[in-house]
Amino acid sequence: MRIRLDMNLAKKKVTVFGLGKSGEAAAALIAQQGGEVLVVDNEQKIPPQNLTQLKSDFPIQFRLGAIEENDFLSAELVVVSPGVPLSKLPMAALAAAEIPVISEMELASRFLVAPLIAITGTNGKSTTTTLVAQMLKESGFKIFLGGNIGTPLSLAAFQPFDYIVAEVSSFQLETIATFRPKIAALLNVTEDHLDRHHDMNNYRGIKERIFENQKRVDYAVLNADSFPPTPLFPSSYPNTCKSIPIWFGRKDDIAPRQGVSLIKDMIVSSITGREEPIISVKAIALSGVHNLENAMAATTIALLAGAHRDAIAKVLSEFSGLPHRMECVREIKGVRYINDSKGTNVGSVLKSLEGINMPVILIAGGLDKGGDFSPLKEPLFKKVKRLILMGDAIEKMSAAFRGHPAIDRVRSMQEAVLLAAASATKGDVVLLSPGCASFDMFENYAHRGEVFKKAVLDLCP
Ligand code: ADP
Repeated sequence: MRIRLDMNLAKKKVTVFGLGKSGEAAAALIAQQGGEVLVVDNEQKIPPQNLTQLKSDFPIQFRLGAIEENDFLSAELVVVSPGVPLSKLPMAALAAAEIPVISEMELASRFLVAPLIAITGTNGKSTTTTLVAQMLKESGFKIFLGGNIGTPLSLAAFQPFDYIVAEVSSFQLETIATFRPKIAALLNVTEDHLDRHHDMNNYRGIKERIFENQKRVDYAVLNADSFPPTPLFPSSYPNTCKSIPIWFGRKDDIAPRQGVSLIKDMIVSSITGREEPIISVKAIALSGVHNLENAMAATTIALLAGAHRDAIAKVLSEFSGLPHRMECVREIKGVRYINDSKGTNVGSVLKSLEGINMPVILIAGGLDKGGDFSPLKEPLFKKVKRLILMGDAIEKMSAAFRGHPAIDRVRSMQEAVLLAAASATKGDVVLLSPGCASFDMFENYAHRGEVFKKAVLDLCP
C-alpha cells in the first residue's frame, strides 16, 4: 500500500506505540506540532518526566499495560518504535481503514531541515556512522549524530545542522514512506533478525528500501565486494534505484566504477574522476578486515558530503573503535581477552574470527534470532580450540558444531571466563563474540560486554 501522508499534525489523532527513547521523542514532536497523542505500551512503564511536563500544555494521554485494538483503529496515524514488531499491531485492519503506520524515523524525517546521510547494513553501522560524523566534524561541519545509534532523529527536527548522520536499522526501514537520504549507504547484508523478518529476501528488501525515495541528485553508496553478481543482491537493485551509485571495495579494483578502492595498500578515491590517495592501510588505527571495509565506506560517504581528505585521514589514524566491538580488555600471561559483545550475528562472528590469527577460545551463545549457524562451522573448527556456550541457543549451537573436540556449556559469564582462563595458554585469544542477541540473560549487548569485562578484570594476574 502506498501510504498517503499529511504531515500537518494539528488536531490529528496519533497513537505512538512503544514508550522507549524514540517513542518519547516522537510523542513530544507530535504534541508540539499540535497533534493529539496517545502513547501506548504493553508494559506498565512510568511516563518520562519530559512527557508528563509537556502533558500540562499539550494533549498527551497514556495507556500503559493493557492496549486495546481501538487505540490504533481510532487514530489517524500510528507511529511505531523500532523495538515493536509489526505483528503486535492489527496491520490488516489498519490497512483496511487506511490508517498509515510509520516509524519514528520516518516521522522525524518530515521535520528535518538539514540533508540526511543514512547508513544501514547488517554489520558495521555504528562504527561507520561514528567515523562519518567525526570526519565531517573534523572538516568543520555542524553534525547531528543519531538514529539507531542512540539519539532519536525526532530531536533534530527543525535544527540548523549541516548534516544529520543517521544509523538506520531494518526495524526502522520497515515502515518508511517518504524517507529520503541525500546519501544512503548499504554496507552489507547477511543473515540476521529472521525471527522478525522471516526470510533473507524479505530482510534484504527491507534494507534496500533505504534507496527507495532517492532522486537523481542523491547518492547510493554500495559495497562492491558483496553486491551483484554475488547472490546477496540479485533482485531489483539497481534497476529501480534512481540515485547515483558510488562503490567501495577492498577486494577488486573497482574501476571503471566511481568510488573508493584499495590500490597497493592505499585507500584511493576516484570519486572526482581523478585518483586521490587518502591513507595507507597501515596508518588506520582500527584493526580487522571488517573495519577496513567500514573505513572505506566512511571515506566514501564523507567525501561525497564534502569532507577534506586530510580530515578523513586524521580520523582514520586516531579512531580506535567503539566499546564492545573487538575491544581488547586485558592481556594476562600472553593471553589476550577481547570483548566483541556486539557480535550478535553469524556474519559478525565470521569477520571477527577472520581477523584473528591465533588459537581462539570462543565464548558464544545467547538469544537465537532464527538464523543458521552452519556458515561458522569451517572457520570455527579451524581456529577455535575450545567453544564455551551459554544462553538459550546452547542446544542449537551444539548441534550446529557437533564433532568439535571441545564444547563446554556454562550458566553464567563468570563461569565462562573462569573456564576460558583455566584452559588458555600463552598466545591464545579469549574472545566473547556471541553470534546471538543478549536479552535472554542481559539487559542488552553493552550490559553483556560489561559483565564480561568485569569477569576478566577480576581474574588474578
Ligand atoms: P552494527 O551497528 O551494525 O551492529 P557495529 O559497528 O556496532 O555494527 O559492529 C558490530 C559487530 O559487527 C562488531 O563487533 C564486529 O564484530 C562486526 N562488524 C563490524 N563491521 C563489520 C563489517 N563491515 N562486516 C562484518 N562484520 C562487521
